[in-house]
Amino acid sequence: MDDALLERARAGDATAMETLLTEVTPSVERFVRRMCPGSDADDVLQETLLSLTTHLPSFEGRSALTSWVFTLTRTACSRQRRGLKNRPHETDDTVALMPDLSPDPEQRATDEELSQSLSRALASLAPEHREVILLRDVEGLTAPEAAASLDVSVDALKSRLHRARAALREALRPVFESAAPPPSSRCPDVMALWSKRLEGDLSPADCAAMEKHLEGCSSCGAACVALKRALWVCQRSRTPEVTSEARALVKRAVEAWSAASTKGT
Ligand SMILES: [Zn+2]
Repeated sequence: MDDALLERARAGDATAMETLLTEVTPSVERFVRRMCPGSDADDVLQETLLSLTTHLPSFEGRSALTSWVFTLTRTACSRQRRGLKNRPHETDDTVALMPDLSPDPEQRATDEELSQSLSRALASLAPEHREVILLRDVEGLTAPEAAASLDVSVDALKSRLHRARAALREALRPVFESAAPPPSSRCPDVMALWSKRLEGDLSPADCAAMEKHLEGCSSCGAACVALKRALWVCQRSRTPEVTSEARALVKRAVEAWSAASTKGT
């Protein structure tokens, strides 16, 4: 996010505000659809955008803007959830999340299958696990940024992330590793090691030991390939596409904000 844009939006420039909202909208929308199942995604998105416009003057920039945007999104999400407490639980809306990943039709079929498997696997995770995967592996927040939006320590975030990735791998095991042999009693916890390595927290010696084991063990090798593919699909699902519906919500938020600031002066 561009600091100059942020400053202009803060100063009341409607075009800058619209650009800013448009930039954050795809991330917010993906997060809402996965984390607020059963609620009206458009309502939550609209509420998040409105709350961004009204709270932007008080955003101090101590946390990254992305962290703060997800904090607002989570608040809007839980407000909806409280309001919807008595409604019957609905299944996750995964269909709207399928991005057109690749221009090659054959490749696209595989991408779509992967992406659907991933959607189902994510939907099956506990919400606190799904949430960290979304922030860190789908939206690409750094560990400190994700920790800030969840209001937990970086250490807590990382240990939750390690468990979440292991759970994701379990959920995807039938898809990616159906033919792989079971791990032996000598196998280390490769998922935990791998996840630590992604966070830059694995010592060079432990890393070398892991690599050596992976070379000789088809079970753990398959597990790592599976996790790598899953994370790759996570990253690929992060498209900057803004739907026309979302664009309309952005416009409405900017208009409401402009109207309110004109009244205030
Ligand atoms: Zn092994």
